[in-house]
Amino acid sequence: MGSAERMKVAASICAEQIRQRPVVTVVSAMSKVTDLLLDTLRKAEGDDQAALEANLKQLEDRHVITCAELLPADRQPAVLEQVHAIIDDFRRIAQGIMMLGERPPRSVDEAVAVGERLSACLVAAYLESVGIPAQAVNAAQVVVTDAVFGNATPLMEATRQKANNVLRPLIDSGVLPVVTGFNGATPDGRPTTLGRGGSDFSASILAAALDASELWIWTDVDGIMTADPRLVPNAVVLPEVTYAEAAELAYNGAKVLHPRTLAPLIEKGIPVWSKNSFALDKPGTKILPSVNAPSGPRAVTSMANVALVSIEPDSAELSATLIMSRALAALAQANAELLALTSSSYRQSFCFLIRRDELPHAMAALETAFALELAHGYMKPFDVDENVGLLAVVGEGMRGTPGLAGRIFTAISRERVNIIAIAQGSSELTIAIVVRREGLEKAVRAVHDECGLGKTPAASSKL
Ligand code: ASP
Ligand code: MG
Repeated sequence: MGSAERMKVAASICAEQIRQRPVVTVVSAMSKVTDLLLDTLRKAEGDDQAALEANLKQLEDRHVITCAELLPADRQPAVLEQVHAIIDDFRRIAQGIMMLGERPPRSVDEAVAVGERLSACLVAAYLESVGIPAQAVNAAQVVVTDAVFGNATPLMEATRQKANNVLRPLIDSGVLPVVTGFNGATPDGRPTTLGRGGSDFSASILAAALDASELWIWTDVDGIMTADPRLVPNAVVLPEVTYAEAAELAYNGAKVLHPRTLAPLIEKGIPVWSKNSFALDKPGTKILPSVNAPSGPRAVTSMANVALVSIEPDSAELSATLIMSRALAALAQANAELLALTSSSYRQSFCFLIRRDELPHAMAALETAFALELAHGYMKPFDVDENVGLLAVVGEGMRGTPGLAGRIFTAISRERVNIIAIAQGSSELTIAIVVRREGLEKAVRAVHDECGLGKTPAASSKL
């Protein structure tokens, strides 16, 4: 939601739908606001009063201006009062952080949800102003999570109860709940957030908790595509994909959907639409339990900001299995997500791929876990290669299709791009390929072409 204009579009979508059936809407913060809030808290921690004030001013201006653009004059004062009260909540936490000189995770989570609270307040007020009864709801009252601040996981049963207590009565009385995305609270009420981009996830949690018939996720792209159109100009929108495919694509770098979004929906098979709020007439992508797709891959994704870490024991006495289990435990403890893992060779070495921004934490955890082995030379120093990229080929139809991997590798090698590591799980849903960073885009285009995924399939036959 970049502007008052975009909020009006969102509201008009809600207005159209609520004439036909009950709707709950979940909003994210206005664009860049979450970054601004996080930056403000860092400035507060660094005791930078001037920067803190400047950021607060920016936050206030943005929402005050949006309010003025959204609402008729007589409705503004009451809403501005709410806007200022929410910003005051943020200011109080930021000042506390400044006093402490540190950012306790739970306070950060409480503060950063302010972006969503502000947009929920504005969208609800706008809906009311155009005659749709609506109420802003802070998801801290509804979404119950564990206490992993910054990356919490919902507790579904407790959330279902709260959704029924808090949202159901609104829905039943014809009021449209405008719920904040991104945040929740522990069972004892401590504020949490669901990870960056988590508003999609919030929406799927609520869809599952309320047994929704459908979930619509509105972004600024036409749906899930066969590749990132900035890398592959002839990429096309996929009309339908399965939950598993969409999850793999999100996980492997497609930005259209938060990777954890689909999990809550699977049990009940609730379909999801990924749609573009800038192109309301475009159908978007429907995400379903299963689809009738041709065999072969559906899409190619890539991730550039990754690092490949190799671990190699230097002593035959060490059990490779044990080393691996300890390494994985250290990564889990550092909250680093494993994007790919491969292991082979007689020397029992293995390597794994993680996001580059998770690297410092992950390496610190590994170095602590293996401090003794490293000090005594039982293990080689860890090798970290940041000059790599990940390419993932995804599709349920790849299962049991011989020759596919060969063609994909050949297409990459024709571009003179060297393959560094490969991982394919036994589900055959994804082939993950690690290449040199500078070859990544070329490799993505080559695979996309080879698999005939684009608008004008290359001369090569379809897989
Ligand atoms: N506002 C949050 C973020 O920027 C959540 C979201 O936008 O989905 O990460
Ligand atoms: Mg988002």
